[in-house]
Amino acid sequence: MAEAFLALGGNIGDVRSTFHRAIAMLCDGAAVRLLARSSDYWTPPWGITDQPRFVNAVIAVATLLSPHALLERAQSCERALGRERGREPRWGPRTLDLDLLAYDDIALDDATLTLPHPRLFARAFVLVPLAEIAPERIIAGTVVRDALARVDATGIERLPRR
Ligand code: ATP
Ligand code: CA
Ligand code: CA
Repeated sequence: MAEAFLALGGNIGDVRSTFHRAIAMLCDGAAVRLLARSSDYWTPPWGITDQPRFVNAVIAVATLLSPHALLERAQSCERALGRERGREPRWGPRTLDLDLLAYDDIALDDATLTLPHPRLFARAFVLVPLAEIAPERIIAGTVVRDALARVDATGIERLPRR
């Protein structure tokens, strides 16, 4: 079994219930098993700032799937939950974005997948929830907690569990 971290994000619709459904769909308990789930966070939009704030979270899973198979499964969850890739600008509004942050200690970069996620260390909206569930995890030589200390987490608000 490999261990992987995935980031969830969205700012259209009832995002928290979309996350709930996405996690249930992604983590069938066999090929993908949920190990940990962060809180949900309100986060300021990144990249395109003139859009509603996002909800973000991170999960850890144990998986039998390859990195590419896990990405495909994540993308089919996005589609099932209303993501219309192609009709949306990158970093624009969406119901659900599911990114693969890290997969064991694999480093790869091909046409469809880069690991670890190339913008991970620039994004407080990913590092805050990741540090909640895996502060000691080392990704590409950096401890998650240290990476978080280097970004500006202004405006990020933890939502109460529901
Ligand atoms: P960003 O990649 O900056 O978070 P985004 O999530 O808005 O932007 P998408 O439109 O969802 O970008 O994805 C664009 C492509 O990124 C996907 O089709 C996928 O093949 C590729 N990709 C490369 N590495 C990863 C990764 N680690 N996780 C998810 N997608 C990835
Ligand atoms: Ca993304
Ligand atoms: Ca994505």
